[in-house]
Amino acid sequence: MYNVKSHKAEEFIDHEEIVATMQWAAENRNNRPLIESIIEKATECRGLSHREAAVLLECEEEDLNERIYTLAKEIKQRFYGNRIVMFAPLYLSNYCVNSCTYCPYHIANKTIPRRKLTQQEIEAEVVALQDMGHKRLALEAGEDPLHNPIEYILESIQTIYSIRHRNGAIRRVNVNIAATTVENYRKLKDAGIGTYILFQETYNKARYETLHPRGPKSNYAWHTEAMDRAMEGGIDDVGIGVLFGLEGYRYDFVGLVMHAEHLEAACGVGPHTISVPRICPADGVDVGDYKDAVPDEVFHKIVAVLRVTVPYTGMIISTRENVASRAKALELGVSQISGGSSTGVGGYVDGQREEAHSTAQFDVSDTRTLDEIVRWLLEGGYVPSFCTACYREGRTGDRFMTLVKNGQIANCCQPNALMTLKEYLVDYASPETLRVGLRVIADELDRVPHPNVRRIAEENLVKIEQGERDFRF
Ligand code: SF4
Ligand code: SF4
Repeated sequence: MYNVKSHKAEEFIDHEEIVATMQWAAENRNNRPLIESIIEKATECRGLSHREAAVLLECEEEDLNERIYTLAKEIKQRFYGNRIVMFAPLYLSNYCVNSCTYCPYHIANKTIPRRKLTQQEIEAEVVALQDMGHKRLALEAGEDPLHNPIEYILESIQTIYSIRHRNGAIRRVNVNIAATTVENYRKLKDAGIGTYILFQETYNKARYETLHPRGPKSNYAWHTEAMDRAMEGGIDDVGIGVLFGLEGYRYDFVGLVMHAEHLEAACGVGPHTISVPRICPADGVDVGDYKDAVPDEVFHKIVAVLRVTVPYTGMIISTRENVASRAKALELGVSQISGGSSTGVGGYVDGQREEAHSTAQFDVSDTRTLDEIVRWLLEGGYVPSFCTACYREGRTGDRFMTLVKNGQIANCCQPNALMTLKEYLVDYASPETLRVGLRVIADELDRVPHPNVRRIAEENLVKIEQGERDFRF
């Protein structure tokens, strides 16, 4: 039976409730008074329930869909302004004992070379990432207790934080590793991670079990309850997501919103981020095998409805998406993107070498360099941000959410975005990007709400030019 506060997967992600929600949403897809009342509620920015969100996703009324898109854009502006936070994935190891049918790292795939980075190799990757200008990483590793035990992950985090190359530094390491124990989550917390990220892949238990026939990940409850354990272990910033296309999108959309509702109700704080990857080609993965692959139009509707449903939660897309799709998603609600990414083990040092490509977890659609993406964002009216301030200032979990909800976070995000962008421009940008970026900084300073904060930010921008680094609010 559905129980949002239960810590049991099958109770907070109740199959019957998802099916009933989908049915109710389908019945109301042309119910104008209901849809209008939900849109009205969404304008208050206090979030929607999974049932309300499902109706908006189903809505077939063209003018009301336009209102949903417009509202998504307004909410995006209100909470995130023009800022887009930049990050890069860092693949440590593609050894994996699981059997996920949609991932080339699955144990039965004998055609890819297996590789695990040594600490020296990690150092080289981090230097390459710092030389691109990155400050925020998402660590990725397959699940393999022999090759990638928690000690390896912890040592790697320590290595990454310790490297100072020229003006570079990785200031926030988010971690995307397999579901683990409360004790291990505590160790990750103590290692100073930012967000713990784990995608559910699909919330449909039967489908989940088909897609994960063997290995520890085949245990649906263990995987689905991971965020509850992470919170118990003291990690209060968690990132959830599904791989759209593994199951009908309606089911996973409802499951995703129910998971967010559960974390807020049972653990006191909703997810810090939601990722919206879509199934895409990779070694041994043919998108044609997945009849539920999500078309662009639906994908962008999902982004828009999520934006109005969970206004306080950051939304992330990766380089799986092509340039046009990314542009649309940014407009409708996405607040974080990766740039200049390699999805292979050792890919930043190996570059385009065949070896790096053959260890890639998925094909990258957006192959532009970080500098090209930064310039593209600037020219599109966005402010690329390399900010990592919150967790370093202790603004995590409900403390963070309170600041977001009362709007105060803008006094941190906006100046931090401008100061970290300035660092990037001075240290790493091409002359053309530098030129556009300086203009954007000058234009955007006025949007720092508090006059004192604005004045200090202005002073710090000058100091950055003079060689000082790492200012933050
Ligand atoms: Fe392993 Fe993760 Fe790939 Fe599954 S998705 S095979 S757990 S790396
Ligand atoms: Fe993110 Fe906090 Fe920086 Fe804003 S101030 S961009 S919320 S880390």
